[in-house]
Amino acid sequence: MSEIPLHHGGCLCGAIRYEVRGPAMQTSFCHCEDCRKASGAPAVAWTFFPPNSLRWTQGAPREIRFAERIRSFCADCGSPLLFTDPALPQFTEVNTCSLDDPAAFPPGDQCWVADEIPWMHSVPSLPRFELTSPLPVDE
Ligand SMILES: [Zn+2]
Ligand SMILES: [Zn+2]
Repeated sequence: MSEIPLHHGGCLCGAIRYEVRGPAMQTSFCHCEDCRKASGAPAVAWTFFPPNSLRWTQGAPREIRFAERIRSFCADCGSPLLFTDPALPQFTEVNTCSLDDPAAFPPGDQCWVADEIPWMHSVPSLPRFELTSPLPVDE
C-alpha cells in the first residue's frame, strides 16, 4: 500500500497552519487579474490537490466570496491560502507559496495569459542580486 504524502503550510504570521494530503494533481501559474489583486503579486502559483484533502491545524482563515468563488486568507497578516471554485469541486486549490516547501511544486503551466502584465516578459532578463537590490544613490 502506497502512502499518501502529507504536506504542511500556513500564513506569514503563523496564526494559520494547515496540512494537505495527496499528490499534487496539477500545478499552474495564474496571471488573472483576480489573483493579482487578491495577492498583490504579478501572478500566483497554485497547486491542485484532491477534494477535501486540506485540514486546518491551527487557526481558521477568513473567506471572501468574489466572482462566485471563495478566497481564503489569514485575517491577521493577509496571506492568501486557498481558492475554492464551486465549478471545480474535484480540486482543493492551494496557494503554492503558502506551502512550507513551494519548491517541490513547480508550475506545470501558465493560465490566464490573456491578463498577463506585459513586463512579466522582461523579468527573467533583469539584473539579479543575491539579497536586496542596491539603493539608488543621490549624485
Ligand atoms: Zn497570518
Ligand atoms: Zn487566477
